[in-house]
Amino acid sequence: MVTASKSLDLSAFTFEESWEEKKERAKKIVEILMKTYPREKLLIGDPYRTLVHCIISQRMRDEVTYRVWEELFKRYKDIETIAATPVEEMQGFLRKQGVGLWKTKGEWIVKASRIILEKYGGKVPDDINELMKLPGIGRKCANIVLAYGFGKQAIPVDTHVNRISKRLGLAPPRVVPEKVEEYLTELIPRDKWIYVNHAMVDHGRSICRPIRPKCGECPLKELCPYARGLVGDEDIK
Ligand code: SF4
Repeated sequence: MVTASKSLDLSAFTFEESWEEKKERAKKIVEILMKTYPREKLLIGDPYRTLVHCIISQRMRDEVTYRVWEELFKRYKDIETIAATPVEEMQGFLRKQGVGLWKTKGEWIVKASRIILEKYGGKVPDDINELMKLPGIGRKCANIVLAYGFGKQAIPVDTHVNRISKRLGLAPPRVVPEKVEEYLTELIPRDKWIYVNHAMVDHGRSICRPIRPKCGECPLKELCPYARGLVGDEDIK
């Protein structure tokens, strides 16, 4: 069965449930996640710094990303300084900081900064399609900039959101992250989108870990098809 609004396919799931039942379950799941992982206020930072953070973070551990990002802004201060920096210098800086893919990331950071200055008057665009035209910015990073930089309703699908959504049966087990985003934005009320990424990241680090999730102590276990054996890690891509 395909929903009316988008080409979202219920038969791609490993268990049966109507679209209305899924929506109802999704609503309860998000309410529990928000209660379990509350935030006084969401991290609404500077869109440009969020964007640079996202480029550095690709295939990097969080602690290393954060350290390099802090060092970078200590040394280069603002978008004007970074845009005026030769690409090779930025690459050398990232290499010395132990950043993987330093060559590509150095080029992305400088070139994206130049484009933002020249084309957008120094202001990061708050539109997903414009963001995705910038070097190094795919859909996940664009959504991170929208959610964490601008405080807009968006659902960045990272590795935690991808895995947990599939275990919870909110997205079919074998779809690409872009499709996961489509299922989530259809199932979850728009005013809750901004909570999904941070709550699932916290949940993925503490309980719903990649290997051996702690289903016994999970507040979502009554609502989770994985906990009932209806979805398995072997199903998930
Ligand atoms: S019950 Fe298990 S699989 Fe489901 S969300 Fe909780 S930890 Fe993850």
